[in-house]
Amino acid sequence: MKILENVPLSELTTMRLGGPAKYVLEIETPTDVKSAYDFAKAKNLPTFVLGGGANTIAHDEGFDGVIIKNTIKGIADNNGTLTIMGGTVWDDAVEYASSKGYTGIEALSKIPGLAGAAPVQNIGAYGQEVADTFISAKVYDSKEDIFKTLEKSDFNFSYRHSILNTTEKNRYFVISIDLKLEKGEMHRPFYNSIEKYISEHNETDFSPQNIRKIVSIIRKNKLPDPTTTASSGSFFKNIYLTDKEAAAAEANNIPVYRGHDGLKINSGWLIEAAGLKGKLLHGMRVHDAAALVLVNESATSYSDLAAARSEIIKAVKEKFGYTLEQEPIEL
Ligand SMILES: Cc1cc2nc3c(=O)[nH]c(=O)nc-3n(C[C@H](O)[C@H](O)[C@H](O)COP(=O)(O)OP(=O)(O)OC[C@H]3O[C@@H](n4cnc5c(N)ncnc54)[C@H](O)[C@@H]3O)c2cc1C
Repeated sequence: MKILENVPLSELTTMRLGGPAKYVLEIETPTDVKSAYDFAKAKNLPTFVLGGGANTIAHDEGFDGVIIKNTIKGIADNNGTLTIMGGTVWDDAVEYASSKGYTGIEALSKIPGLAGAAPVQNIGAYGQEVADTFISAKVYDSKEDIFKTLEKSDFNFSYRHSILNTTEKNRYFVISIDLKLEKGEMHRPFYNSIEKYISEHNETDFSPQNIRKIVSIIRKNKLPDPTTTASSGSFFKNIYLTDKEAAAAEANNIPVYRGHDGLKINSGWLIEAAGLKGKLLHGMRVHDAAALVLVNESATSYSDLAAARSEIIKAVKEKFGYTLEQEPIEL
């Protein structure tokens, strides 16, 4: 286990904000996990598990505690049942699966971050969610001080939700995840933007490898690259609706999407219709290709981000009556 001190959180999170973390412990073997929690306990400090920092917002005062990072990498493949170590770059797992012809996670290509974080908010994109293929995870339970297996049903997965980002936040350290994938292809109809791409480019190959290629191109044209542009991806969640709410939204000329996962309003549409797409607010740019994304162009403090967030929430609330909910987790 590596022990680092006073590490700026702006260097560990893709939004590139935040003061120093007192300690950062890098876990290199599963037994290190327990040692890391013991280290924090001995110093009476709080802990926070961090992966690639692509969905975490840090504060200016930093974190007077212990950041625990999973750096254990590797993929084991038992006829399509993949055991992916939590420190594996998520997209490396997608690349592996797609290259073997396994379907199930190809639409989740290029989502930044590590595999250990994938179940936390049940990552999803272009019609797939990690919950669709999830079997279980090996975890360390910091409350009971034991290693155990959590089954899919324990996670209570739904849109951008699991027990790990709600009722059991900060309790479990994900060591590895198991996914069950099958050889095959996704079935049409695909997500709107994939359908649009294949009709414009006369694509007829829907193999996992080709869907991965298509999704990668769509994402590259639409989303900022976190290695060069500071952002946390979608800053707000989409809004899921009941049938009655959907009818009311449509009566108000707000487009409602009927996906595999239910009825929803694209919150990016609301932000754009409120006139904020491309606007620079307190150093944060509302992305000009995807209004749901906030890019940290010149913000230097958390308060800049908070001010931009308030303006966006207020504008959408005043124009449409919906209250946007933040997607990234606050450290
Ligand atoms: C440009 C961009 C595009 C994005 N697109 C998408 C998208 O299409 N779909 C989508 O769902 N998300 C998207 N995201 C969000 C982000 O990529 C995902 O949420 C991803 O899973 C975050 O991984 P991470 O390792 O960076 O997590 P971190 O930000 O490091 O952590 C996120 C949360 O998970 C917890 N956590 C991390 N690792 C572990 C672990 N081993 N054990 C227990 N808890 C852990 C942390 O405590 C924290 O609460 C995007 C982000 C960016 C910057």
